[in-house]
Amino acid sequence: MEKWQEHNKNAYKTAAQLRAHSGMDHAALEQVTETYPLRLTPHLLELLHTKGDSIARQFVPTAAELEDGGEVDPLNEEGLSPVPHVVHRYPGRVLLLCATSCFAYCRFCTRKRHVGRATHGISFSDLLGAVEYIRATPQINEVILSGGDPLTMSDRLVQELLGRLRKISHVKVLRLGSRAPVVLPQRITPALCKLLQQAQPLYFMTHINHPDELSPACIAACRKLVDAGVPLVNQTVLLRGVNDSAALLQGLFERLLELRIRPYYLHQMDLTRGTAHFRTRLEDGVEIMAQLRGALSGLAMPHFIVDLPGGHGKISLVPEYVECLGEQARLRAADGTLVEYPNRLSS
Ligand SMILES: *Cc1c(COP(=O)(O)O)cnc(C)c1O
Ligand code: SF4
Repeated sequence: MEKWQEHNKNAYKTAAQLRAHSGMDHAALEQVTETYPLRLTPHLLELLHTKGDSIARQFVPTAAELEDGGEVDPLNEEGLSPVPHVVHRYPGRVLLLCATSCFAYCRFCTRKRHVGRATHGISFSDLLGAVEYIRATPQINEVILSGGDPLTMSDRLVQELLGRLRKISHVKVLRLGSRAPVVLPQRITPALCKLLQQAQPLYFMTHINHPDELSPACIAACRKLVDAGVPLVNQTVLLRGVNDSAALLQGLFERLLELRIRPYYLHQMDLTRGTAHFRTRLEDGVEIMAQLRGALSGLAMPHFIVDLPGGHGKISLVPEYVECLGEQARLRAADGTLVEYPNRLSS
């Protein structure tokens, strides 16, 4: 067994194990974990001790999860799935949901209904059907490996899957989303880095929400990936009571840039059942973006994204910079000043 697999095996998975770390009474905690799975790696338990709330709110279950009647599948992923494990919403790119479990369960997860609930994982023969769909659909030029966490697969399986995708000539770019650098940094082994390097161009999408997640081990894991030639981009979920502050996010995005991780998306929380207590208002995210503009290096500036209900896709929300267009446009500067902009083509 590899070292990361040993660490992973020692994760907490039951309410009884977590009892000492949760303020909830045991019966209530058990009730939540009957509905939504619980998992915390030893690395996260250590962070929970040293950092506290920023980690607890993201990973320790609370009764609020049972109080909210939102949608089970707000993005209509099931309706957009032509074959099992594939979500095909945009013509040129697909999600390949190649794992049903994660190393740790984020309480705000969009796929709360799925991840960690399957009685068995996805078999390789299941995945072959998905690969076959991608092969038979020439307009697909990008495949996004997601799940669950794709790195719960063994190196052998990851390599086999990436190899098969790389053999499809119309697939130009691969993307792999994983929370492993944060929750199980041991997973980022030299062998894994090498096989990801061999699958280039492949973008590794980290998921980091708070500076407290950037432990020395996490930073070292990210550095290994970048040094191996794997480009890193990050998605952050805007979470009430965790990171909904412009100052905190500015610090996070600056730090990520310094670590050679390009901030890509800041996500508005989806309307997923059991997550309402994490959701901010749209105005909050727009206001945060207005404060970041100008303050933050453009390289560190993510897009603020709302994934629209019903499967209509992602849009980016921006503060009001356009007062009016036309021959003499009026635009609003980051500091609020209205600036005239001559907007005529030369003859
Ligand atoms: C988010 C998502 C993508 C990727 O969208 P980008 O804007 O390219 O990051 C692709 N397909 C589905 C179904 C998605 O939800
Ligand atoms: S790692 Fe991603 S898929 Fe897994 S629980 Fe967290 S948000 Fe959901």
